[in-house]
Amino acid sequence: MRFDIITIFPDFFSSILSHGVLKRALTSGLLCVEAHDLRGFAHDRHRTVDDRPFGGGEGMVLKPEPLAEAIESLQIAPKDERDTQKETVILLSAQGARFTQATARALAGLDRAVLICGRYEGVDERINELFCDRELSIGDYVLSGGELGAAVILDATMRLIPGVLGNEASSAYESFGQADSVFAENEDGPPRSTHGAGGLLDYPHYTRPAEFRGLAVPEVLSGGNHDQIRRWRRERALEKTWRNRPDLLQNAELTADDRRFLESLH
Ligand code: SAH
Repeated sequence: MRFDIITIFPDFFSSILSHGVLKRALTSGLLCVEAHDLRGFAHDRHRTVDDRPFGGGEGMVLKPEPLAEAIESLQIAPKDERDTQKETVILLSAQGARFTQATARALAGLDRAVLICGRYEGVDERINELFCDRELSIGDYVLSGGELGAAVILDATMRLIPGVLGNEASSAYESFGQADSVFAENEDGPPRSTHGAGGLLDYPHYTRPAEFRGLAVPEVLSGGNHDQIRRWRRERALEKTWRNRPDLLQNAELTADDRRFLESLH
């Protein structure tokens, strides 16, 4: 998959691109990311990319001409001819639809995404109208620029591209994982390392040492009883979701046992 990021701070991305899974994905060739300097598309001596808002008010707005040129330089199909099952142009915006794990899954199925990072008061709205398929927000707060949002979208999406994570199951069985009706109660063999299936949050994880600063690892985890471990993990996932994100329980896939357990928490 290819990502093109349009920004006034292309260097912002060099650090995230040179670490961890993202770096590995780039090296393996499964992913290609280019950050394009918006100022390279401004033609005056000061390489101006912003201007005062029509209608008055605070701050500055990113001008349309350099943005349009930058997008056109990427040779992506014009908006009305674009196959959005393959490629998409996204405007980072606090006014956008919320970016979620489901959005990441959808984007990971595309060949190409262009991410446009706003700054100041935002981007001239005609850029949105003329070039963008969607506006995305990474959460209900206002950032000073779209770069962090683009980094979040890039990171969350690329780890879902087949082959990027060594173990495909690790992205299926984690917080916000897809509804998983084969919840392991009937499963054979050792429990999966993560099991936050069915729209719940992930359960808590432990590693060695068995005792740390007076806190022991829950006994069931070292007991080797697979069914008990699965049940314990499922209950902790339910408990954490109930405590931290009760809204997620609405759409979670719950068994009768799960419901009984949740009742017992009240
Ligand atoms: N005036 C705007 C905020 C502009 S912040 C408003 O009130 O909605 C400047 C830029 O930061 C935006 O153009 C956008 O690209 C980015 N940005 C701010 N908050 C964001 C968020 N929650 N998600 C994604 N991008 C965001």
